[in-house]
Amino acid sequence: MHAVTSHLMEVYAREPVSFVRGCGARLWDEQGVEYLDAIAGVAVTSLGHAHPDITDAIVQQAGRLLHTSNVFRIDWQEQLGERLCLLTGMQKAFFCNSGAEANETALKLARLHGHRRQISVPKVVVMENGFHGRTIATLSATGNPSGQRGFEPLLPGFLRVTYNDIEAVRKVAECEPDVVAVLLEPVQGEGGVRALSPHYLRELRALCDQRGWLLMLDEIQTGLGRTGTWFGYQHAGVAPDVVTLAKALGNGVPIGACLARGTAAELFSPGQHGSTFGGNPLACRVACKVLEVIARDHLPERAAELGARLRSGLERALCDHPHVIAIRGQGLMVGIELDQPCKALVGRALEEQRLLITVTRDSIIRLLPPLICDDRQIDDIVDRVDRLLTPGVDSPATLATEEARL
Ligand code: PLP
Repeated sequence: MHAVTSHLMEVYAREPVSFVRGCGARLWDEQGVEYLDAIAGVAVTSLGHAHPDITDAIVQQAGRLLHTSNVFRIDWQEQLGERLCLLTGMQKAFFCNSGAEANETALKLARLHGHRRQISVPKVVVMENGFHGRTIATLSATGNPSGQRGFEPLLPGFLRVTYNDIEAVRKVAECEPDVVAVLLEPVQGEGGVRALSPHYLRELRALCDQRGWLLMLDEIQTGLGRTGTWFGYQHAGVAPDVVTLAKALGNGVPIGACLARGTAAELFSPGQHGSTFGGNPLACRVACKVLEVIARDHLPERAAELGARLRSGLERALCDHPHVIAIRGQGLMVGIELDQPCKALVGRALEEQRLLITVTRDSIIRLLPPLICDDRQIDDIVDRVDRLLTPGVDSPATLATEEARL
């Protein structure tokens, strides 16, 4: 590990480790040191690193055709659209390259939906602590004032309410005639691994129906099996109008998708939206293979089992820990909340435990292991987190010093 002069913009507080190879849930750095991956590239490599089926799909398509442009019909894009619509009950798909672009697409749909209804300044209800991306529109939708600071003026037209509080949305409905949609995550990832109550989501669906609002679910982190079902909204048994996906859809090959049904599926007309790279044959062929592997290997069910194992293991190991105040999550999306800032644990986990973790909201350890982990690897994550948090090692004083260094 050594510091290097970099010509990259300083947008990341990077750890001084560089990985050169991966296999499943394991990674190796430049020195050949092996690590256990408990974040999967922040919920991207759900099938693990160097999955042979994905590698094969990439190689096959790279040797055939990478890009033609959306001026032409793209067969793999058609196939992927059909498969995703079958899985979600949606009717139309738009493909792009990232989560933020998928949400931008959803927000453009919301605006069109509003204008169709003669609402000239359409508004979208969003959540406190929600995270939807880093473009200006998705940053404006994001409920993190410190991330927004310095980028004003933000886009107007977002009404923020408390997550999981249906009365708060009802109040907005009474006072604001120009609302056209609600955008939210089934489990807030960046916001601290907090899940929606199924009852809340059903009530929200009913309110959207009553008012003619679009229910738009950001499944960018939760989608494709991670929470123990194919999509997070399935825990509540409701059908949204718009779903956004990215991250795990390409297992590392960039791709995003915005899916819609009903009136939302018919809003765009040619020329109103598009993407140069979005939906190219390579990304779509890989995504088709990702869906095939998730279904074939029953990975949503596996994520539910492994998630339960991970949470119960952590609960057993950390039940007497003086700084742990909550362990929560859904499927393989798990948060451990501490009573103090703990960002420095990311570096310490790498150095001391050879374990990849993330910390969100300053004091919440977030674990997002690949869905292909075996039981032993899940137990290994528990052991390494337990050792990392052993009292005495991460006393408040030690953490404060590490925080200052970062
Ligand atoms: N929405 C959610 C819920 C996310 O977790 C993220 C990324 O972390 C995004 C949107 C933005 O995705 P991207 O970084 O691909 O633009």
